[in-house]
Amino acid sequence: MWNEKLIEKLTGPQLVNDSKTPSGRVHVGSLRGVLIHDAIYRALLSHGFDAKYSYGIDDLDPLDGLPADAEPWLKDYMGYPLCSVPAPETSSATDLADHYISEFLGLFNELGVGAEIYRTRDLYRSGRFNEAIDAILNSAPIIRKVYAEVSNAARPTNWLPFQIICEECGKIGVTEVTDYDGKEVSYSCRPDLVTWASGCGNRGRISPFDGNGKLPWKLEWVAKWHTLGVTIEGAGKDHCTKGGSREVAAACLRGIFGKKPPLNVPYEFFLVGGAKMSSSKAIGTSAREMADLLPPEILRFLMIRTPPKKTVNFSTDHDYLVKLYNEHDRLVESCLSGRATAEQEKTLQLIEVAPQSTAYHPVGFQLLTALLQLPHIDIEKEIEQRSADSPSRLDKDSLHKRLHSARYWLEDFAAEEDRLELQMEVPASVAGLRASQHAFLRLLGSRFPTDRITEDEYQRFIFDTARLTPIDHKSAFQALYRALLDKDQGPKGGALLSYLDADFLIERFSEIVYSVDEFWQETGVTPDSCETWISEHEQSISGTEFALFINAVLPTEAAPGSGRFSRGKGIVEIYAKLDDEREHTIRVLAIDFEGEGPDLAQEAERLEKYARDFIQGLSGKFRLSFKERAPTRITQEAPDTGLPVDLSNRFTIRRSEEKPR
Ligand SMILES: [Zn+2]
Repeated sequence: MWNEKLIEKLTGPQLVNDSKTPSGRVHVGSLRGVLIHDAIYRALLSHGFDAKYSYGIDDLDPLDGLPADAEPWLKDYMGYPLCSVPAPETSSATDLADHYISEFLGLFNELGVGAEIYRTRDLYRSGRFNEAIDAILNSAPIIRKVYAEVSNAARPTNWLPFQIICEECGKIGVTEVTDYDGKEVSYSCRPDLVTWASGCGNRGRISPFDGNGKLPWKLEWVAKWHTLGVTIEGAGKDHCTKGGSREVAAACLRGIFGKKPPLNVPYEFFLVGGAKMSSSKAIGTSAREMADLLPPEILRFLMIRTPPKKTVNFSTDHDYLVKLYNEHDRLVESCLSGRATAEQEKTLQLIEVAPQSTAYHPVGFQLLTALLQLPHIDIEKEIEQRSADSPSRLDKDSLHKRLHSARYWLEDFAAEEDRLELQMEVPASVAGLRASQHAFLRLLGSRFPTDRITEDEYQRFIFDTARLTPIDHKSAFQALYRALLDKDQGPKGGALLSYLDADFLIERFSEIVYSVDEFWQETGVTPDSCETWISEHEQSISGTEFALFINAVLPTEAAPGSGRFSRGKGIVEIYAKLDDEREHTIRVLAIDFEGEGPDLAQEAERLEKYARDFIQGLSGKFRLSFKERAPTRITQEAPDTGLPVDLSNRFTIRRSEEKPR
């Protein structure tokens, strides 16, 4: 993992630090920094380092822009320290900084982030920063030089890197400081220093210590690194450019204190895509909303599995979330089953909120969102009934959180096409499926288990039926979702079947009609292809059977009502069982016939003769013995209803003397 690699060469005690200015509702992007630092901190602990993770709230920073949810009165507080601006009336917070940050800090607990929180105003007020402030004010020439050389920014010779909170008006963002004598500085509160706030014009002389003012943020960084002893601190890539704030701060730390800057971990942005993310919520994507949308482990997984230098492109789209959950759940399952690699074990430790929090059996996101939309289901009860062992407290907790997230997604982010509705009748769109898909659905209904089986067994049942049809898996599942949900996609088929009433399903599948003739045409193969299939599977074939079928199509135009057929087919179905107990159907197109009223008994004899030769040929070539599964079946179908009518007992088929073996 990237975090392990990062700490490989470190020695001695480590302090990981990160911070945030609480100037608005905290965006989800800030969580990336929090979790990257947490991942590093966890790696340090697991390697036996004496390590600490501290997280600073930079609440003495001025209010220099209005947050998206600002009330009109807030504009009067531009330029004040965030911790001096009142909180909104509806808030229980002590001040604006506290208001914005408390929601964010609440997530630390939910996400199992082990940081110790400090408020930067306390570092100033307690005097802890005094030594650093004194050194920095005395080093103004060095800092001016760094600014000029690293970031190409000129500062006047009397400029000092500090701002005093104006004793008259209380603003900090508008003051300018000069003339430090080791005890006090001169300052002026300037009406025109910045465009976003206006000073009162007051001038004074005051101590810069004990919370009377603050350092500009790049030097505040330096003061923290020096005072707290920070050894590792990453920063967003926008700060890490050539000549950017990170480089300036590092050069100042070297120049003023002669210290090595903390290990940098530049990290890429967290981008939020998805059609609904920006439009459905006026405030945008706050960290809180993200923690409602994703359960804690999934959110940690999303943020941490991607190395810091790669952008996370998050999306609220259904497919994206299904994939994210599934990847996470596979990780949890392989660790539960003891099949996990050392790397997977480490990843799991990294994403868990608490050591026990990932020892549960995850229920997939796709299934939960589907179940939430099916009528009359008590999901928690139903899932409990289906578990092999009775669910643990962790299973229940996890399910509860996932249901919360799935509901939140359905309510706020699901697109129209993501919504599911169990269809009370066969949807019209089923008619547009291919005959083989229709035949697959009918076959599902005719062999549907009458006793309740497990989700996995239903899933196997679907695959078995697809092989027997035969039809490819994709087309089979599409047919299933079409018939039940009127969609091309849906939750895991076995799970879906396990939550629906068996009688309902059998009835639904038995209502599907199709043309047998078309179905055979679509799925039938040449004798050569059949031979190829057998030669490819020869080694694993454990048993073979066959059966013969004739189907005649009634005319509709030439002689409607005559009851006579005009064309039809005869097929040989080969059933091959393999060592894995799976049975395959291979349908060989054997004979075609056409004309007004050929004798079906004669056609059956023709088919028998053909089949005898064909089967004999196969037996000889592959040394297999073929057992006849059932007598030849003769049907006729009318294209208008599509339903085949069994005629077998109306014909006496003269069997050839030589029976196939
Ligand atoms: Zn003032």
